[in-house]
Amino acid sequence: VGVASREELRLVDHHCHGVVPTDLDRAGFEAFISESFRPPPSGTSHFESPIGLAIRRWCAPVLGLEPFASPDDYVARRLELGADEVARRFLREAGLGALLIDTGFRSDEVDSLEGMRALAGAPVHEIVRLEAVAEALAGRGVDAGAYPSAYAEALEEASRGAVGFKSIIAYRGGFAFDPDPPENTDVIRAAGAFLDAAGSGRPRLSDTVLLRFGIWTGARLARDRGLPLQFHVGWGDPDLELHLTNPTLLTRLIRELVGLDVNVALLHCYPFHREAGYLAAMYPNVYFDVGSALHYLGPSSGRLLAEAMEVAPFSKLLFSSDAFGVAELYHLGAMLHRRALGEVLDGWIREDQCDAATSERIIEAIGRGNALRIYPLPEGPGLK
Ligand SMILES: [Zn+2]
Repeated sequence: VGVASREELRLVDHHCHGVVPTDLDRAGFEAFISESFRPPPSGTSHFESPIGLAIRRWCAPVLGLEPFASPDDYVARRLELGADEVARRFLREAGLGALLIDTGFRSDEVDSLEGMRALAGAPVHEIVRLEAVAEALAGRGVDAGAYPSAYAEALEEASRGAVGFKSIIAYRGGFAFDPDPPENTDVIRAAGAFLDAAGSGRPRLSDTVLLRFGIWTGARLARDRGLPLQFHVGWGDPDLELHLTNPTLLTRLIRELVGLDVNVALLHCYPFHREAGYLAAMYPNVYFDVGSALHYLGPSSGRLLAEAMEVAPFSKLLFSSDAFGVAELYHLGAMLHRRALGEVLDGWIREDQCDAATSERIIEAIGRGNALRIYPLPEGPGLK
């Protein structure tokens, strides 16, 4: 046991996205290292942040630069190597055993599942967004009266080869919604308004009745197929109102999903990672990760993981990079996860609160074993 075997552990990244295949200039690259929709104030840079610092420290050497290379040198080196080579280097460096990719966000801008499989040299599986399926259905056109059955069929079809579902209701009003399944007549009425609006542009599902209908349709399919249901929680772009994404607002829904035997995976969670840890300790079906908060917290990611592990059972925490757009985020997510988890457990060992064998079991469970238990991956527990 020890550092060597920890580095060799192939992580299962249970929530991530594709990378853009295009070469990025300074502004283009900076847009991918911030969740803000807007450029930074004039005279400042997104590099002047914990994630920017982490990129200069930990990503520059992967591109053959000295640690702490300047932002201009960094972006110039990326352009010199080309988007493909950059993506391949970071994805290989991440040491992933499998990638579970959410295909419901800006998927026309990023590499396909096939492309990501080639870049990563690892198996890739799909997670289907409940809301994206509704929006695609509305774009194709359907009668409001037929919406409930058409949505159920579309979801079944879209998820045929998928290993999980995801809801972004956090971004469409948050979690303070009625957790019960909506009445069919209410769904049809709401579908009428949604489909009318869809006729006049790009449909965006924001009606709470339809969002709840999506979650319940997804939950029943998840039960039948043994798939988990992911929820975006907490940290994310300014499309959400953070206080409405506290996962404890999902408590009643979580209790109902215990009854259905459907596992729930809470994604990112920051700054509600302690609340997520509490839910994971209370409900057998709740799993969570700290996802993109790892790379956005950079030097503070060790403290983040320590807090996430305060009360959560070791069997309930998962690894994800939530990488999107640039492959640096795959490398940073994996690297900071390994480092932060090692720091926490080595600290426990130094204080004589944990032994080496137990710490290695925890590292394996969080990095891979827990995900292999709840996702039906064809690689299964034999994954190397
Ligand atoms: Zn994501």
